[in-house]
Amino acid sequence: MRERVRRIGQKLIDESFPILHGMKIHFIVLRFRFFALSVWIPPFIRFVIISRRTRNFSDEVLTGILAHELCHQERYSGMGIGGYMKFVARYTLSNKTRTDEERATDTLTIEKGYGRNLYELTLLSQNDKNHKSILDNYLTPEEIKTYSMSIGKW
Ligand SMILES: [Zn+2]
Repeated sequence: MRERVRRIGQKLIDESFPILHGMKIHFIVLRFRFFALSVWIPPFIRFVIISRRTRNFSDEVLTGILAHELCHQERYSGMGIGGYMKFVARYTLSNKTRTDEERATDTLTIEKGYGRNLYELTLLSQNDKNHKSILDNYLTPEEIKTYSMSIGKW
């Protein structure tokens, strides 16, 4: 599974994330509750952690997960170290900050052309009991489709 995650992740970086070129992103597969998360330990350590729970997901859905996580990495690098440290503190304490970050990250994922992948992923997370408490932080499938169509990327 780790090889599949790395292959899809690297392809995404090559094709859609020029800002991340030359940065080392560590793709890690672990057992945990949600589907994925992204961490930056400034200045050089960047983790995209993918849950083993996604091992039976299609390449299309896994592409949606990885594109979303790489959009977090792109946003983190744009914050600078000081901005990112403040962001982590706010993200930990404030549900509004978490919602703003997740929705902005979904929006960027769509703008990069992965709206359909994100849509397929969101259909799964909407039916996943572990995601119930955080679903409101993300765009809904309808919002994803509407925004993708409005910018000609559906
Ligand atoms: Zn996210």
